[in-house]
This record gives sequence, C-alpha cells and structure tokens, in this order.
Amino acid sequence: MYVSKYNIVLDVENHTKKIVINPLSQSMDVVDGEDRELLVLLEGTGRFEKVKGSDLDYLLKRGYIFNAQVEEESLLHRAIEKDDQEKYPCDFLLYPTFHCNFRCTYCFQENYFKKYSFITKEYVSKAFSAIETICRDLQFESTPLLYLFGGEPLLKGKRAEETIQYTLLQAYDRGYRTAIVTNGSNVQHYSSLLRKYAVDFIQITLDGPPHIHDTRRIYANGKGTFDDIKRGIESIIDSEIKILIRMNLDSQNIDYIPEFSDFVYESGWDKENVTVFVGPYRDLLCRSYEYQLPEHVMLKRMFSFYEEIPKTRIIKLLAWPGADYVLHFLRMRELPPPRVSYCIATYGRYGFDAEGYVYACGNAAGNKQYAIGRYYPEISLDEENVRRWRKRRFNAMPECIRCQLALLCGGGCTLQSLLKHGGKNPFCPEILENLKVAVTYYFDKIVGE
Ligand code: SF4
Ligand code: SF4
Repeated sequence: MYVSKYNIVLDVENHTKKIVINPLSQSMDVVDGEDRELLVLLEGTGRFEKVKGSDLDYLLKRGYIFNAQVEEESLLHRAIEKDDQEKYPCDFLLYPTFHCNFRCTYCFQENYFKKYSFITKEYVSKAFSAIETICRDLQFESTPLLYLFGGEPLLKGKRAEETIQYTLLQAYDRGYRTAIVTNGSNVQHYSSLLRKYAVDFIQITLDGPPHIHDTRRIYANGKGTFDDIKRGIESIIDSEIKILIRMNLDSQNIDYIPEFSDFVYESGWDKENVTVFVGPYRDLLCRSYEYQLPEHVMLKRMFSFYEEIPKTRIIKLLAWPGADYVLHFLRMRELPPPRVSYCIATYGRYGFDAEGYVYACGNAAGNKQYAIGRYYPEISLDEENVRRWRKRRFNAMPECIRCQLALLCGGGCTLQSLLKHGGKNPFCPEILENLKVAVTYYFDKIVGE
C-alpha cells in the first residue's frame, strides 16, 4: 500500500478534530485529533498495520491511500490529460493607455505615467483582427470577452473618448461581451456610452470610506477621488451593468470594514447588480509596501468581522487562494478538480497594448520583456515567450513536483516568479495559511450540511 503525497492534514482552531484534504482524489474528511495512528499515516510517516482494517478500506475508497504508487500516478496523469482537453474560456484585454489621472500611493504602474499615449483606432482595429484570428485558430466556441484595462481606460479628452466609443462599437457589432476595469473617476462622463453598448460589467476600486480612500487614491494634484467615483457608480447603478467594487485590503484600511459596510447599505448599494469585495494588496514589485499584511491575517480579521458584525458580510472575498477552495466546496458541495496550473495566464489570456505588443498576463503588460508577441501590423507570437506563460504547470518545476500543495496551487503566479526569482523558482502563494483560516471559520458548515 502507498500513502498519497497530496494528503493535507489541517488543524482546526479550538477543535480537537482535524480536516484532511486530498485535492487529487477530491476528498475532504474530518478526523478525530486523538486518532494519532491514523493521522501519522495520512501524513506519510505512520504504519499501515497500526490502523484498523475498516479505516484503511475507507482511506482507500476516498483516495488518501492507494494499493500502489502507480495508481496515484495514473490518477494524476488523467487529471493533466483532462486539463489538456478542457476548453477554457479565453479573454482579451485592451490597454488603450498606461497613463492614469490618479496617483495612488501603492500603484505598481507608476513608472508608466511619464509616457502618455492613447491607442489609435488603427491599432484597435488590428487588435480586433487579432482576436478573430486567435478565436478561429484555437477554435474558441464561446463569445469573446474584451476587457478595457489600463492605466485608466476612461480618460477625458477628444482622442480618448472617440477611441473608447469606437472600441465599444466594434465589440458591440461583433457581439462580444465587454468589461471595463477603471478607477471610476469618469464613469459618470461615460455612462451613456456604457449603457448604449451594453457593457457587461465594470470594476471600480474604492478603498474604504471617504476619509480613508481619499488618503490613498488621489488625483495628480493630491485631491481625493471618492466623491467622483461615488457619482460614477450611481450614474449606472439603475442599469443592467454589473458593478464590482473592489477594496484593496491592507493594514491601513482593514479596520474600516464595518464603517464601509454601513456606507454600502446607507448608499443603497446592496443591490443585485452590485458586488462589493476585498482583494489582498499584493506587492508585485517588491517595494516593501508599509501597509502590507499577510493574507491569512487579513482573512482571519474578515472572518471575525463576519462573526461579530453580520452586516459586514455584504463585503465578499474574491481571489483568496486557499479560501476559494473551501468556498467552492460550500457552494457546490464538492471540491474543485485538481489544479495543475495557477491562473488564466497559463491558458487563454491575450492583452493588447497601445504599441502593438501582446501579453499573457494582465499585470505584465507594458513590460516588453514579458510580451509574448505583437498584433501590429499582424498577429505574430514568439513561441519561446509563449511557452514561458502557457501550460506552465506545477510539474515543470522541481519544487512544485515535491510539493504537497501542488494540486491546490498549480505552480504559483508566473509573473511573481519572473519578477522575484527570475522565473527559476516558483513564487508560493499563501494557500496553506489561508486554507487553515478558512476551514476553521467554516468548520460547522463543512461538517454540518
Ligand atoms: S508554487 Fe509553491 S506552493 Fe505552489 S506548487 Fe509550487 S512549491 Fe507548491
Ligand atoms: S501570472 Fe500572476 S499576475 Fe499574471 S494573471 Fe497570473 S496570477 Fe495574475
């Protein structure tokens, strides 16, 4: 018999029980913390003969142990094959500019401010041709989703406004879905266009109540931006457009979650088309940002708000690796499939900048050394650069092959690995810590339903 190398035994705070997960077998069970022999076996250091026969049968059935190692290898092989055959959605990002009218205190794109330029209609048209070629060559069946990203895509000025209108019209005429990631300051100015061209959703950042937001998300002249953003949100709140309000969470604003949730209710934003969520601030450029907190610390704090002040639950959690895994289980009553890659950059994302470059990762755009090719004058991708991003699975890296968390993680963020380790070693997300915090908070729901 053989013990799976993907078993993860998790302590549950204030409980004698533990949770065991095997992401390859897609199993999760509760184990009595007193059952030492069973636990050490699951962790790979125990002895089979010390565990009851009926327990071994159960572990075998649930995929925590196998008759032989080759059974686990073949299960893993099937998971990778399935991933190969999967038709993942493909999305496209257009960066009309890297310029922005804000000077946020934590911005990772600040180096781009000097070079103001806005994409021309000719380049936009080439980007649409590239999308059609990519969809045809890769036989994508689903409707393309085009994000306008930046910098700030909704800038004021004749050139910007005409080009954004042209882009939305092109997408609308082709039946594409569209989404905009914006700082929100000019949403009111653009609201009739957004309605006219049936933009699917818009993501806007608000970093907490006004007195906090306005210390971090400011105009170039230092003025606060909260009121303009609020007006922007309210100019489209009665439309079909879904509004995602993102709060970048760190030690400077986390204490204001209860106040912000009051504000959401008082403003009447507790509506079906509005989702307010927190995402962890991530220091992509290793700048030692002074307000950064470990993700699991913020997660724990969010859960204690949820517990003590129920109305704070209006502020959701999105993109917290590890916690996402538990939330998926609670939604679907089954665990997600084994994760062999980390993110959409390893599958089908194409970002087009104003200079004709193509990127696989939204956050790498503008950094030409990470481009995967060009779309101007015609689409042409560089195979070697493409390989660096696409199909970057955990099993391409020795550390990840040895890692017990590999099938929860998939090999980590490519961009952070490139920026922080020159791409030689993986960059490990805080999955295990987040998972422990999430199973503790949701323990009764995991067990009880
Ligand atoms: S990136 Fe880190 S946590 Fe993820 S699979 Fe690789 S070694 Fe494990
Ligand atoms: S490579 Fe990293 S930064 Fe880029 S999309 Fe993936 S997770 Fe995000």
